[in-house]
Amino acid sequence: MPKFVFNTTDASQLADSYDLVIIGSGGTGLTAALQAHELGSKVAILEKMPKLGGNTNRASSGMNAAETQVQLDHQIVDSMDDFYDETLKGGGGLNNPAMLRYFTDHSALAIDWLAHHGINLTGLTITGGMSTYRTHRPASKAPIGGFLVTELLKLIAKAGIPIFSDVKVTELAKTGDTVTGVVVSHANETRTVNAKAVILATGGFGANPEMLLKYRPDLKGYKTTNQPGATGDGIKLAEQAGAALVDMDQVQVHPTVQQDTPHTFLIGEAVRGEGAILVNKAGERFTNELDTRKNVTAKIDDLYEGGAYLIFDSKIRAQVKAIDFYDAVGLVKHGDNLADLAKEANINAENLQTTVARWNECVKAGSDVDWHRTTGMDLAIVQGPFFAIHIAPAVHYTMGGVKIDTQTHVLDQAGHPLAGLFAAGEVAGGLHGNNRIGGNSIAETVIYGRQAGQQSYKYIKSL
Ligand SMILES: Cc1cc2nc3c(=O)[nH]c(=O)nc-3n(C[C@H](O)[C@H](O)[C@H](O)COP(=O)(O)OP(=O)(O)OC[C@H]3O[C@@H](n4cnc5c(N)ncnc54)[C@H](O)[C@@H]3O)c2cc1C
Repeated sequence: MPKFVFNTTDASQLADSYDLVIIGSGGTGLTAALQAHELGSKVAILEKMPKLGGNTNRASSGMNAAETQVQLDHQIVDSMDDFYDETLKGGGGLNNPAMLRYFTDHSALAIDWLAHHGINLTGLTITGGMSTYRTHRPASKAPIGGFLVTELLKLIAKAGIPIFSDVKVTELAKTGDTVTGVVVSHANETRTVNAKAVILATGGFGANPEMLLKYRPDLKGYKTTNQPGATGDGIKLAEQAGAALVDMDQVQVHPTVQQDTPHTFLIGEAVRGEGAILVNKAGERFTNELDTRKNVTAKIDDLYEGGAYLIFDSKIRAQVKAIDFYDAVGLVKHGDNLADLAKEANINAENLQTTVARWNECVKAGSDVDWHRTTGMDLAIVQGPFFAIHIAPAVHYTMGGVKIDTQTHVLDQAGHPLAGLFAAGEVAGGLHGNNRIGGNSIAETVIYGRQAGQQSYKYIKSL
């Protein structure tokens, strides 16, 4: 099948006014646009980068949801309450309870909404901090992000919703206290585009060293997994317009990022979810690999060895298509047996063999006596060739952001909505507490992206 190419609209076609302007072309912006368009709003999406899709494009593991038909088809009986409780526990109890409840209660609907639009996530995997298989992904086991962005863009193209790339929003236009449009910059020209409502879908600030330094000076020197456009613009735009911010110092560092080349490559949690273990240079396990990201990161940092190694076999590899890509770009060490692998990766060979044998016993017994791992234990590490990927922690996700309510209204310091302004996705803070669970962000883009599309429509109708 020919590769789908989305044609952006030339900036000369940017009209003077729309019902709704959406800033950002990631999962949140695309979902919100589609939802609002289907309700009847005249929508435009503005994207500052030449490439569409934001960080969403990079997502690899999947999208969490509970009580879905897909889970039942896999004989998984789940509960929204468990999803809520485990996310709250993973977030250190700091998650905004109302936002979290809306999120978990609408997660199955989000999977259905995607399926209703022909976007089927019928595969399942598991991420750290979750007790069961609730991370939905394509049946092909392909990375979720590129798949989701491509499929949403096909629908956006069909709906005729214009996306303008290389168009950066530099200011929110206000009339009195109401947001009534955006100021944009394109090819050194600045102009105002009027809108009855504006949705901030601008993502986080994981690629903005100044903001990271301001809110988390201790993370100086960490690399990032984020795309270069993740610079927190939406947070600054909202703040200038009078919005309150929450949890700005809550920045997630992802434990498993390959960073030995000039680029960083996130090695998705699905690799551990499907059975990989982590070892140190001495070839020993040192943590429950599927503990929360915060805890696994701390354990790797405590090694003081500049990282650790993911170890897996051919069967586990076959469960995660992204590994083919990691291999193609030279990130994966190979060995026909564990001794060869250890030599190739510069790990203690004798210990590695002992560690893997012991781990395989744990898998067989269904009990990890050493580190109390309880998930991702379906496959032992037995089938050669064997593989290793060197990883280390890197800045990955910014939990803090613009304060919103469950209707995606942007709130001021007094907790009142700023008329005409909505926000959803990574730009918004509060949902994840002090640690985002893997798979919850893509879910957030669809759940709260849909909500922003709906609530902005309702607001526009009320004018
Ligand atoms: C490597 C990687 C892997 C991940 N894997 C997963 C996963 O498997 N599961 C999961 O749940 N989450 C995952 N995440 C997190 C998740 O992908 C993101 O948090 C989520 O996609 C953010 O979506 P968004 O729509 O809010 O923002 P984004 O997708 O980042 O989109 C925001 C867009 O807004 C644009 N923009 C910003 N400022 C402006 C401006 N001033 N004017 C115009 N445009 C602007 C940006 O350029 C960007 O394109 C991963 C993240 C990374 C980096």
